[in-house]
Amino acid sequence: TPLIVWFRRDLRLDDHPMLAAAAATGRPLIPVFIADRAVTDIGAAARWRYGEAIGSFAARLKDRGTRLILRRGAALPVLLELLDETGAGGVWWTRLYDPLSRDRDSEIKDTLKSKDFEARSFPGHTLVEPWEIETKAGDPYKVYSPFFRALDEKGVAQPCEAPDDLNPPDRWPESEDLADWDLGAAMKRGADIVAKHAIVGEEAARKRLENFLDGPVLDYKDDRDFPAKPAVSGLSENLTYGEIGPRRVWHAAKVHTGKGGTHFRKELAWRDFAHHLMFHFPQLLESNWREEWDDFPWRQDNKDAERWRRGMTGEPFVDAGLREMYVTGTMHNRVRMVVASYLTKHLTTHWKIGMEWFADCLIDWDPASNAMGWQWVAGSGPDAAPYFRVFNPETQAEKFDKTEEYRKRFIAELSDDPGEEALDYFKAVPRAWKLDAKADYPERMIALSKGREAALEAYDSLKKS
Ligand code: FAD
Repeated sequence: TPLIVWFRRDLRLDDHPMLAAAAATGRPLIPVFIADRAVTDIGAAARWRYGEAIGSFAARLKDRGTRLILRRGAALPVLLELLDETGAGGVWWTRLYDPLSRDRDSEIKDTLKSKDFEARSFPGHTLVEPWEIETKAGDPYKVYSPFFRALDEKGVAQPCEAPDDLNPPDRWPESEDLADWDLGAAMKRGADIVAKHAIVGEEAARKRLENFLDGPVLDYKDDRDFPAKPAVSGLSENLTYGEIGPRRVWHAAKVHTGKGGTHFRKELAWRDFAHHLMFHFPQLLESNWREEWDDFPWRQDNKDAERWRRGMTGEPFVDAGLREMYVTGTMHNRVRMVVASYLTKHLTTHWKIGMEWFADCLIDWDPASNAMGWQWVAGSGPDAAPYFRVFNPETQAEKFDKTEEYRKRFIAELSDDPGEEALDYFKAVPRAWKLDAKADYPERMIALSKGREAALEAYDSLKKS
């Protein structure tokens, strides 16, 4: 009997334990992708990019003599319908660890089993399963360094190769058309601008890994904090849709035993740490991980935050980051920390306001890494930076963007001859924002010392309460 192989954030053939196991059964395989809430209810840029990933994967399957069947709707009824239409004996998938996916998947597993269908889930989205690493006392880790040591000691399973034969069935169920899903509909900023920067699909992701390991990895440890340097892999974009498997990345990097390769694996393990935290403490996505932070006098959404979103704070390093995100769909990690610190500290605005904006703009959006990143910077998260560590955007810029290359790349007003990315920002933003590339760059909206004082005062009030 045929088997439905249900793809979600695992849009690849290589390093795919579920697909390898399914192909090894020799049974006909019906690849399916379902646009349910986990696809339609995410941020504009991520949803658009998801569509690109699905299109690329469908083409890849077609090249390999099979298809990707597309359906829209709540996953459980869609799967039941497909089982009925195809006579398949069950559904297999790769596990995800966010609360929405877990609730959905466990309901599906229970229902399918109660109807005597197979329902099997597999690893592959992370290096290790979130429950495989625990402290000596059997608890989840809350601190990164010992988590990494434990993970490294345990070791990461070898990636498996793409199956040779994807065993297409004799009869196909009907598929919807990806174009009808219009996953880019909310990209009012113009998907064509972000598309210039996206690197889509399994083959491109693999090439990206190879290019990175061919050169930049050697200087990764020293250069990864400098946003103007092509020093980082950019793989978060591909990992989030599963266009490349983390185990493949880990083992390829392991060949580089120098400090670059080791440091790179440490960064990759942060992604696993985020999933580990989200699995054990799903409140990470919603509320202050440290409850005492509930008394912090965060400001809710406000006009200053809106200027922050628009990249018009008058603080060049901050604005460059926010504009980079709008135009390219990603932002350099160093700058993510600085813009997050500026919003939560200088503007004492709740980290959730920033997290939501990132979720709307990032093509590498990942619920776990985004929430962990924001709570880490804000001070409310596990293993977080202490709140009184307020990044000074000016000194950060002097240190990490001394030549102003990065700031000028993204801020047209700072340059006599602005480049494409800086100008694209003004094409991409909504007209209602009324931004003009030829206008003067805005004055600082808040003196840095004043912002820092406001942040520390708020922190003092929390300590007193
Ligand atoms: P590289 O330096 O090449 O690192 C390799 C891989 O390691 C990355 O692709 C990523 O999977 C992982 N990684 C590296 N640093 C981190 C980190 N701090 N946390 C988790 N994983 C990491 N990352 C996302 O993938 N999605 C998000 O939505 C996201 N939101 C963030 C929000 C904030 C406020 C902060 C501070 C960080 C956030 N990050 C997020 C983490 C990090 O900024 C990106 O993973 C990184 O910039 C991706 O670039 P890269 O692939 O070139 O990274």
